[in-house]
Amino acid sequence: MSETSPKLRAELEGIPTYKPGRPAAADGPVAYKLSSNENPYPPLPGVLETVTAAAGSFNRYPDMACTGLMNELAERFAVPVSHIATGTGSVGVAQQLVQSTSGPGDEVIYAWRSFEAYPIITQISGATSVKVPLTPGDVHDLDAMADAITDRTRLIFVCNPNNPTGTAVRQAELERFLDRVPADVLVVLDEAYKEFVRDIEVPDGVVLYRDRPNVCVLRTFSKAYGLAGLRVGFAIAHEPVAAALRKTAVPFGVSQLAQDAAVASLRAEDALLGRVGSLVSERTRVVDALRGQGWTVPDTQANFVWLRLGERTVDFAAVCERAGVVVRPFPGEGVRVTVGETEANDIFLTVAEGFRKEI
Ligand SMILES: *Cc1c(COP(=O)(O)O)cnc(C)c1O
Repeated sequence: MSETSPKLRAELEGIPTYKPGRPAAADGPVAYKLSSNENPYPPLPGVLETVTAAAGSFNRYPDMACTGLMNELAERFAVPVSHIATGTGSVGVAQQLVQSTSGPGDEVIYAWRSFEAYPIITQISGATSVKVPLTPGDVHDLDAMADAITDRTRLIFVCNPNNPTGTAVRQAELERFLDRVPADVLVVLDEAYKEFVRDIEVPDGVVLYRDRPNVCVLRTFSKAYGLAGLRVGFAIAHEPVAAALRKTAVPFGVSQLAQDAAVASLRAEDALLGRVGSLVSERTRVVDALRGQGWTVPDTQANFVWLRLGERTVDFAAVCERAGVVVRPFPGEGVRVTVGETEANDIFLTVAEGFRKEI
């Protein structure tokens, strides 16, 4: 075998690998996966039937333009069809946004810690990440992010609510920030957890995008809608951003199963809202219980909670796992725990209580 291997782009060196939430161990006691912010409910009524029916035709390519889904989304959000772009999960769309705007020498700003896909997709495109620390309260520091803008800035991610802290930025501060961003810099409002937001001061990105041509909203079917395994997300943005997304899309990336499931899910709104409501009640129960135990928990608007455990993070995750729940540790920082089935949340709360007493 030759010693020489194909030349790969230098930018790929040192890219952090995406760490998926660990699955629950198959051989443990009872094992619940609270590590990937998935929806614990099975597919919404009618969605499984729709997907099963569509499965009979998967010898065919999907509708490349995602016509049915695009039309459904345009109607739902009252936006022109030309302002929508679909992709293989909103991570796929986020990657297309970076590819469309940023290359070597360009800068992409985002808060840190935030969604771990941002550094990866930025580095793949050859652009430079500018990470702006969260405030001590684990919220986006929008003033510092605006201060970080240079003439090389091409894109800014605002993850609202933020993964993994759950914190959200509010209308007035977000608008003040948007007013400071130059019109030729794209702001991506990543609203993967929008359906779980209950703070009425947290804005709807789709309202903000309407009169701001440099704002793009990212949404997904993976979390509230429970379609994580089917890979479909979308962006709402003005031309020419939406057009750029259609150019950078992998042809036929969104399967017909995913397209049909997404349409059926949008039409099952009542059931969706019921489930989201139950998860939000569970979230309140979990946060109240943790605070009652003495933990400091940031206000979460998403389907997970954040415990800043610092050096004890890995230990805590190990204790959780032995008790039957898999959580998501960020070593040295904290753990992110998805609000899941009631029994799973109870196990987590029991572990948290015991751990609290030991420290
Ligand atoms: C889960 C998540 C997504 C969505 O991922 P998909 O690719 O749509 O499954 C996007 N952004 C954030 C911040 C997330 O946590």
